[in-house]
Amino acid sequence: MTGSLLDYAVPRAEHVPSIRSLFQQTPSPTNPIGVKGIGESGSIAAPPLHGSRRARCAVTVRDQASGHADDAAARLVGDSKRTRRSKPMIPASFDYVRATSLAQAVGLLQKDADGSKLVAGGHTLIPTLKLRLASPALLIDIRGIDELKGIEFADRIRIGALTTHAELLASEPLRSVLPIFHQAAGQIADPQVRNRGTIGGSLANADPAADWPAVVVALKAELELAGPEGRRRVAAEDFFVDIMTTALEPGEVLVAVHLPRPDPATQFRYRKIRHPASGYAVVGVAVALRLHGQCGGGSLDRHHRRHRPGLRGGRRERASDRQAAHRLENIASAAQLASEQAECLSDHYASADYRKHLVRTEVSRALASLSAA
Ligand SMILES: Cc1cc2nc3c(=O)[nH]c(=O)nc-3n(C[C@H](O)[C@H](O)[C@H](O)COP(=O)(O)OP(=O)(O)OC[C@H]3O[C@@H](n4cnc5c(N)ncnc54)[C@H](O)[C@@H]3O)c2cc1C
Repeated sequence: MTGSLLDYAVPRAEHVPSIRSLFQQTPSPTNPIGVKGIGESGSIAAPPLHGSRRARCAVTVRDQASGHADDAAARLVGDSKRTRRSKPMIPASFDYVRATSLAQAVGLLQKDADGSKLVAGGHTLIPTLKLRLASPALLIDIRGIDELKGIEFADRIRIGALTTHAELLASEPLRSVLPIFHQAAGQIADPQVRNRGTIGGSLANADPAADWPAVVVALKAELELAGPEGRRRVAAEDFFVDIMTTALEPGEVLVAVHLPRPDPATQFRYRKIRHPASGYAVVGVAVALRLHGQCGGGSLDRHHRRHRPGLRGGRRERASDRQAAHRLENIASAAQLASEQAECLSDHYASADYRKHLVRTEVSRALASLSAA
């Protein structure tokens, strides 16, 4: 022991060797946009950003005649003295409107559904624009629409699409009825992402590495959509059509998530293996366990996240009481079944086989903790 912390040789920034990157890549061939979830591209795009900053120092920008941001990437590409090392980090130009009502947002979308994009928290959309994976002509900011906000408790629970991950994490009434929201929200990224990102944006985005899709499927939620033809509700299980593809029609807005009040005999658990950089799920499982009867006879509804294109939100299995009792007695066999049915992606971080293994261990742990509670 020494007298003071200062006596320890704590390394400082200047002790860290400098890093020179010779090669940069966003190495995911596994989805159509070339990355495993655009939110995550916010973090795996860090090397390109680093390279981009190096290539585009302030002198380069100041040397240009035009100061318009939209021209900056093109100017830098044309800079003969510098090598272009990454995709542009400046979005193409767009118009911006702040909608104050749902009707206004739907009306604006209707004018040019393909050329317009809604923006909620922006944590997925803005990186998409910066990488020019999308170049909408119009951004419709929906954050001022009151109807999309808040958590309400009546016969059913209604969660507005604009409810942030942080609000879901902080809601004590929600936690007391459905602690799975607290479990899942607390594992999303970091406070900055949680403070801005919304459940509606996450569901509409349908990233297979996101957390909310599995949760709403496990809870048998209904998603309320509003469009030019009026309103409709879609079961969460039918909402997720494919990787980053949902049942939202062009011109529709996701308004709210509606949840049945849970049967007291049903318990839910969310577990996740986080990607160490972004916090996104390498594997996430939402498990619903319903027990009834005196002697362990019961039924098991099991939902699990699958990491593949074609995700339809989760797979449900209902078994006879006898079969379910057998599964409840044997958590290992239930987890094995989940793993076998899971359709997983391989990417640079984890192979499909490894993900299947993680599905088995996480379902097993979730069931063990639920049955012990
Ligand atoms: C570094 C980082 C780490 C992250 N980690 C995680 C994580 O661990 N787990 C996780 O689940 N997520 C994670 N995310 C994603 C984050 O939760 C995003 O906030 C979320 O995916 C999108 O929500 P948003 O409100 O920001 O949507 P936006 O970016 O504003 O929009 C996303 C898409 O949804 C559409 N949209 C938005 N709202 C609506 C609506 N009401 N109706 C119809 N369409 C709509 C937009 O047009 C856009 O296409 C991470 C993001 C980042 C940047």
